[in-house]
Amino acid sequence: MTLVYFPSHFKRAPAIFFFAFFLFTLGVTHFFGGSVSLLQAGESKAGLPYIVKKGDSLGEIALRYNVSVTAIKKWNKLTGDKIFEGQRLRIEPFPLHSYTVKSGDTLSEIALASNIPVSRLRELNKITGDRIYTGQKLQLVNDRKRTEKPSVHVVEKGESLWDIAKQYDISIAAIKKRNHLKTEVITPGMTLSLKEVPEEKHAKEKTDEEDPELFEYKVRPGDNLSTIAERFDVAVSLLKQLNGLKENRIYPGQTLQLRPTSLDEAVHVVRSGETLSSIAFKYRMNVSDIKRINEIEGSKIVVGQELRLKGAKPNVYIVERGDALWEVAQAYGMRVEELKRLNGLTSDRIYPGQELQLGIAPARPFGTYTVKKGDYLGRIARLHQMSVADLKSMNNMKTALIYPGDQLKVTPFLQQGSEWLKISEINWDDLMGSSGGLKKITLGNGPYYGSRPMARRQNNRRYYESARLSLWNTYKRAQKLQAALDRKIAKMGRLSDCLNGWHIVIDPGHGGLDPGAVVANLDGNGDKVYVVEDEYVYDVALRVYVMLRLHGADVTLTLLSPDHLIRHSDPPVQTFVNEKNEVYNSRAFNRGNSRSHWPKGGRNGNLSRRVAIAENAFKNVPRNRRMLLSFHADIDHSSPNVPLVLYYRNRRTGRPDRASKQFAKAIQPFLGAGTVIRGQNVFVLRNSPADISVMLELRNLAYTDHAWALRFEELRQRDAEKVVRGVVEYVKGKG
Ligand SMILES: [Zn+2]
Repeated sequence: MTLVYFPSHFKRAPAIFFFAFFLFTLGVTHFFGGSVSLLQAGESKAGLPYIVKKGDSLGEIALRYNVSVTAIKKWNKLTGDKIFEGQRLRIEPFPLHSYTVKSGDTLSEIALASNIPVSRLRELNKITGDRIYTGQKLQLVNDRKRTEKPSVHVVEKGESLWDIAKQYDISIAAIKKRNHLKTEVITPGMTLSLKEVPEEKHAKEKTDEEDPELFEYKVRPGDNLSTIAERFDVAVSLLKQLNGLKENRIYPGQTLQLRPTSLDEAVHVVRSGETLSSIAFKYRMNVSDIKRINEIEGSKIVVGQELRLKGAKPNVYIVERGDALWEVAQAYGMRVEELKRLNGLTSDRIYPGQELQLGIAPARPFGTYTVKKGDYLGRIARLHQMSVADLKSMNNMKTALIYPGDQLKVTPFLQQGSEWLKISEINWDDLMGSSGGLKKITLGNGPYYGSRPMARRQNNRRYYESARLSLWNTYKRAQKLQAALDRKIAKMGRLSDCLNGWHIVIDPGHGGLDPGAVVANLDGNGDKVYVVEDEYVYDVALRVYVMLRLHGADVTLTLLSPDHLIRHSDPPVQTFVNEKNEVYNSRAFNRGNSRSHWPKGGRNGNLSRRVAIAENAFKNVPRNRRMLLSFHADIDHSSPNVPLVLYYRNRRTGRPDRASKQFAKAIQPFLGAGTVIRGQNVFVLRNSPADISVMLELRNLAYTDHAWALRFEELRQRDAEKVVRGVVEYVKGKG
C-alpha cells in the first residue's frame, strides 16, 4: 500500500524543485502528536561521521548528502579541497540554514519549500512585502534561538547513554531518571524520553478532557497496559512494540510512548542525490538488507521513492500512512472484526508503522487492471494501494517490464455489503454524462459542459479564468447541470438506506474568486504543473455528494460550478485550470453582479453565505440529523502529511463543540492511519447551524506527495470513499 512514489522519468527540474523536494521529504518525517519533527531533532545532532573512501571528492560527498562543498569545508575547518582516504569528515544534518534566491523564485515558493510560513520567513529576514532578489541570502532558521527540543530519542545502533546526553545537553542521571533506567545499558530501537514530566501533571486532569493525541503518558498507580491502551486508543501490542516491552508489566512513574513516531514507521523517502549506499549508511544498515526488504534488483532508486527499512514477518502487515483498517482487511480478504480480534484492537484505529497480524490469511481476492500506454509499475501499484513488490509477487513478475494491453492482478477497489449496489458498481462515466442539455466537451481533464477552459492546464500559479457569463446566468447554468446529475443519481440503485432522514450540507472550500492554495507539482514528464485547491476539492466533494445520496441522505452543496461535474484527469499531466466561476447555490445570493456577490475568501470574504445556505437547507430537518462537511486541502506546515479533521473549539474558553468532536473521533479511523483531529476556531464551524460540523483537510498541500495524489482521480475517489465510510459507520454506531 505504498503511497509515496514519484514517476521515474525525470527531466532536469529547476533548482527550486530539488531544494523543495528534499526539504519536503524532510517535512514528511514529522512525529505524531505534533510534538517535534526530525528537522528539529536533526539540529541538535552532532553530525554524521563520514570516512573518506578511495576516489571520493568533496563535490561527490556534497552531492550525496545534499549539502554544499563550502558547508562541508566549514564544518570540518578545511582550507582547501583536498581530502584523503580514511579521513573522518563531519556532515551536519539538515536543515539548510539559509537559501540563496534564484531567478524566478518567489517568497511563497521558498516558504513552501522550506516548510515555514511566509510570515516567519519575512520575520527572519526582516522583509515586509514579497520582494526578493536573485542572489539574496534568506535565513531559514533562527540561529540564536532553537527552543523546540525533541521530547524523545530513539536509540541507534552503537549509541551510548553518554552520546545521547551530550547530544541533547542533558545529564546521564537526568536521562536515567526520566526513563526509570537502573543501569546505563540501552538497546537500539529503545525510545528515551528527554522531557521532564512533572510528577502530578496528569493527576488532576478530568478524564474526558484528556488529550486523545497525547504523545507520552506517565503511568499512574492502578494503571495497567490494557486500561492505557483503551484510554488512548492504541492496541496493547502496539504499546509493547513502541516501548520495547516483553511482558505486560509496567510501573507507576514509567513513561510510555503512546504514538509511533516517524522513526517507528521505518520508511525513508529517497532524496535527490541519494544512493542505496548513502541511505544504508545513514541508517547503519546493509545495502543488501534494504534491497531485500524492498525487493530491489540492481541499484536504481528514484527521488521520492519510498523505501522500507524494516521487513515484515510472514503474515504481518506494516501499516502505512493513510491505510484504513477496512482497507487492509479488504486487501487480505479478511473481515474487519477478524483483523481486530487477531490484533487485540478495541477500535478501528491503526497507526503508521503498526504491525498487524494477518493470521493465516486466505487467498487474496484480486481485480484485473489492463495496462495503458505510458503506465509504469509504480503508478499502477500506487493506484491500487499496493507496493511494487506486492504487485510483482501477485503477478509472478521477474522484471518490471509491462506492455499496453497486459492484464495485471491488482488489489480490488472497495466492495461493500451484498444486497445493495456496490461502490464499484457505480457508473461514474454515466454520471459524468449528465449534461442538462448543455453541450458536452470531452477533454483530458474533462468533461466540461457548455464551455471549456481556455487553457489546457494550469501552467503557473497566477493563471486564472473569470466567468464568462453574468452571475445570474452562471448560476442558472450551474443549477441545470446539478439537476441533471441529481436525475441520474435518482435513477441509480442505492448503496444502503442508513442515512435516511439525514440532511448533509457539503461545503467545497474556496471557489469563485478564491482558489485556495495553488502549489507546484511535477507531472509524469517531470515538468512543473500547478494544483489548485478549490478545483480538486470540488471534485472530491461531488464524489462524496453522490455516495451520500446513494446511502439515502439528502445532500446540499453550498457551491456549484457552471461547466463541470465530476472529472476524470487522465493522463495525469492534465491539471484542472483555476476557473473563477463557481457560484453560491442560492437564488438570493446571485441576483447582483458585483465582485462582492461571487464567492470570496479572506478577511473580507463572504463565508457567512455558506452558513446561510446551510440554515436554509436545514429548515425542516429535525435535530441531530443535520451535518455539515467542509472540504479543504490547505497548506498546513504545522501538521504532518496526513488527513486532518477540524471541529470547533472556542479559542478563549477552550471548550470544544462536543458532538462534532465526538464525530471527528468516530470518523478518524476510517480516514486512515495517521489521521489527526484538532479543535480550532474556524468561521464556518463556529457559525454552523448543523448538529455536527467538521472541516476535512483531506490532503495537505504543504507536501508534494499530497499534491501529487490529488491529481489522480482514483486517489480522489479513495479519499471520498473514506469520508463516506466514516459518516456511514458513525451513523450506524449511533443506532
Ligand atoms: Zn482550503
